[in-house]
Amino acid sequence: MNKYILSIDAGTSSSRAVVVNILGEIIGISQYEFQQFFPKNGWVEHDPMEIWNTQLRAIKDVLKKTNINANMIQSVGITNQRETTVIWNKNTGLPVYNAIVWQDRRTADYCDDLKSKNLEQKFTDKTGLLLDPYFSGTKIKWILENDPKLFQLAKANQLAFGTIDSWLIWNLTCGEVHVTDVTNASRTLLFNIHSLEWDQELLNILNIPYNILPKIVSNSEFIAHINDGILGQEIPITAIAGDQQSALFGQMCFNKGDVKNTYGTGCFSMMNTGSQIVKSSNKMLTTVAYQINGTTNYAIEGSVFIAGSLIQWLRDGLGIISKAYEIELLAESETTNGGLTLIPALTGLGAPYWNPDVKGAIFGITRNTSKGHIARAALESIAIRTYEIILSMEKDANIKFSSLKVDGGASNNNLLMQIQSDLLQKEVIRPMVTECTALGVAFMSGLGSGYWSSLEDLKKLNKKNDTFQPKESKQELLLNWNKHIKTLI
Ligand code: ADP
Repeated sequence: MNKYILSIDAGTSSSRAVVVNILGEIIGISQYEFQQFFPKNGWVEHDPMEIWNTQLRAIKDVLKKTNINANMIQSVGITNQRETTVIWNKNTGLPVYNAIVWQDRRTADYCDDLKSKNLEQKFTDKTGLLLDPYFSGTKIKWILENDPKLFQLAKANQLAFGTIDSWLIWNLTCGEVHVTDVTNASRTLLFNIHSLEWDQELLNILNIPYNILPKIVSNSEFIAHINDGILGQEIPITAIAGDQQSALFGQMCFNKGDVKNTYGTGCFSMMNTGSQIVKSSNKMLTTVAYQINGTTNYAIEGSVFIAGSLIQWLRDGLGIISKAYEIELLAESETTNGGLTLIPALTGLGAPYWNPDVKGAIFGITRNTSKGHIARAALESIAIRTYEIILSMEKDANIKFSSLKVDGGASNNNLLMQIQSDLLQKEVIRPMVTECTALGVAFMSGLGSGYWSSLEDLKKLNKKNDTFQPKESKQELLLNWNKHIKTLI
């Protein structure tokens, strides 16, 4: 009987389930969107029950669609939106508050307060992160303090905290198992990336009881069985990983210095730094890449806030295109940018500038400026911001990388990828299967259940890629960029 891996991909806007075969091919996907709640300015919430229900529906759907019975699934892997925080009652299994999503900024003042007490260095040294509302720690604190009864319940060991992986596994095991993995743990501000354990000192600072935390597992090992009441028979869960780490693995960035960049709404870059825990001088994040068979690989991570969303703005704000993909054709209608430099600081600038107040700008407009020039300058700006992040990572890690692996919606833009290759003067590699997030945890799960035997085994699956080689120098582009950006920051 043919066997398959089921990948559960719990994203920020939808719950997806993906079936992968022994060749590493995706043979079915089901997906359900769920509601985003914005109760106040800067607040973003999800309903944990809706996440669970849509996820279960996606799982049942994809099995039906692909005609696969539960007994044909060798094992399951779970990847998820990171940092998003759920707290539920261990007795009833019900959430005590909505999930507070990674984008939520409600704990910004509290983070500032900790910074004013000079605590940021301590958190960064231990966790590799910055004191920012992005991470789970201050979200947990907020939920527990929002209702004093909850803090008492937490102290009395009645509550459980988890990121979405933990919440799904709790439900898939009918409340038997409370776990998370090292990559999700490393995004909480509570996890010491050196000792690979929850850090009591940080828990004390945030006043979070230890007993609400899940047990930590590696990325690829037997974790739990899905309860037989759910899909008709027990199925082993053998992998968990946060979405960006899963994409890194799905891109087969197994070696020190391998880099991937995901071009979505924003860009997420990650470099595998092997056993080295890099201390960033550019406010990049240090995080666990994956832990398999007792070996821990670390990563350095940088993100660009505005990437595909710049194209959305050109579509919805300026109306110069009606579909995102049209940007490529429009940019190709001109052979140059006509002397334009576009600074895509639509929501300030992140690393390495870290200036939230900068506004975007277009320099060099003349009577000859066309939509095509603007389109080209926009694509160049996305590639330059990625170039800056990757260069900073390279400096921080003191590792020269050889090629860039790419995925995400905007990576389908060939012109953007060519400009990226020209800027970096490196090869850019785009796999035919761009579902790298779902694929990564499927690989981890298959390794954990003996479906595939080794990383070498996995590498043999990676046959089809599009590659972009550097063709021309972009020195002038960079000179102009540097000249103009200096006037803004
Ligand atoms: P996310 O996972 O963040 O929702 P996706 O990976 O689905 O993002 O990518 C969607 C983003 O990519 C959108 O912001 C869209 O504007 C942009 N995009 C999609 N296709 C193209 C293209 N061909 N060229 C440039 N940008 C694109």
